Amino acid sequence: MDGDRIARDRLAARERLAREDAEEPHSSARERFHFPRGVIYLDGNSLGPLQPAVAARLARTVGGEWGDGLIRSWNEAGWVDLPARVAARIAPLIGAEPTEVTVADTTSTNLFKALGAALEARPDRSVILTDSRNFPTDVTIADGVARFAAGDRRVRVVEPEEVEDALGPDVAVLALTHVDYRSGLLHDAGRLTAAAHDHGALAVWDLSHSAGAVRVDLHDWDADLAVGCTYKYLNGGPGSPAYVFVASRHNGVLRNPIQGWFGHGDPFRFSFEHRPAPDASAFLTGTPTILALAGLDTALEVWEDLDLDALWDHARTLTSLFIDLVEQRCDGLGLELRSPRRASQRGAQVSLSHPRAGAVMRTLIDRGVIGDHRPPDLLRFGFAPLYIRRVDVHDAVEILREVLADRVYEQERYASPNRVP
Ligand SMILES: *Cc1c(COP(=O)(O)O)cnc(C)c1O
Repeated sequence: MDGDRIARDRLAARERLAREDAEEPHSSARERFHFPRGVIYLDGNSLGPLQPAVAARLARTVGGEWGDGLIRSWNEAGWVDLPARVAARIAPLIGAEPTEVTVADTTSTNLFKALGAALEARPDRSVILTDSRNFPTDVTIADGVARFAAGDRRVRVVEPEEVEDALGPDVAVLALTHVDYRSGLLHDAGRLTAAAHDHGALAVWDLSHSAGAVRVDLHDWDADLAVGCTYKYLNGGPGSPAYVFVASRHNGVLRNPIQGWFGHGDPFRFSFEHRPAPDASAFLTGTPTILALAGLDTALEVWEDLDLDALWDHARTLTSLFIDLVEQRCDGLGLELRSPRRASQRGAQVSLSHPRAGAVMRTLIDRGVIGDHRPPDLLRFGFAPLYIRRVDVHDAVEILREVLADRVYEQERYASPNRVP
């Protein structure tokens, strides 16, 4: 009897969460996405899900624009303006003007351009300053830029809490990722940008785990440059192109070191003399990847007319609910919280540690709860506020509890790692 009552209470709690979900101003956005049956998708921080409208746009772009329009589509289908059109959709999500953003290449490549531009603008300073929690590509790209830039340049890596103290007259550029991909810890970007400026350095932000998940306001931060990817919270599809932000005050000053013809103000003059475009489009390099850009263009339509502040609040509601439920329901099952407990200090993700994290995640995925594993011991769950509901959090925690309590993850078939963890 007691078991029945507990089950009834749990059902009532779930129904309450469902009612709260239905009241969210963005609750219909989820309907634009495709989710396979039985899947709770908590990995939108790695690869956002598909919107069927994106598949339809890709089919039109390939069949109609390429197939029938052929080269005429550069003009007639507006291909040549696609980077700027997509940039205009991203700008409001990061607190930028449309002309301060362009879309091309990968985050890694754009970081090379941004850091190269920043080093050139600070010829007498030697250091790219970053922190030890940064994403590997951000650090290895910085190393490569330092090697190629004129003068004696190097990367200095410090602990996240030591960044401010490490600023000094030798620092050319502070290069950080806003949200730590492992713990979800947020840097105070406004404060750190101001500190960098006080020391005469430029600030470059990587927004890969921020845009579409938390409030980003590059103008408010007074950021100089920023980069970010579009296949995570922006749902552009695998390998969709990344963006670069260049504050308009730097137009004509910060120069793209990979100065290809598409960053020229007038590429079709076919000139050997590089005259960069007057705005962020100077950070384009080569021919736009039209297929990927078209998909991304449609993927971003879902953000039009949304109350963004309500969405960022929803992300915090979800991560807080997840932490609360995990602590209630999975107590004593070997998990430890590895993300900040204060909602204001984290992005839209929560990491938990478990000694058998890899096997636990493979078991969860087998049962429809898709998150990811970051070696050695992290289980990482992303709560993309656009389409994740409170009931998804509830159901995911119940499945997590089952997997841990019954030690399902100890089964032989969950023992061997995948190539992409
Ligand atoms: C996802 C991510 C990247 C990805 O870079 P690519 O060049 O697109 O592979 C870079 N930096 C950070 C912080 C990321 O989270």
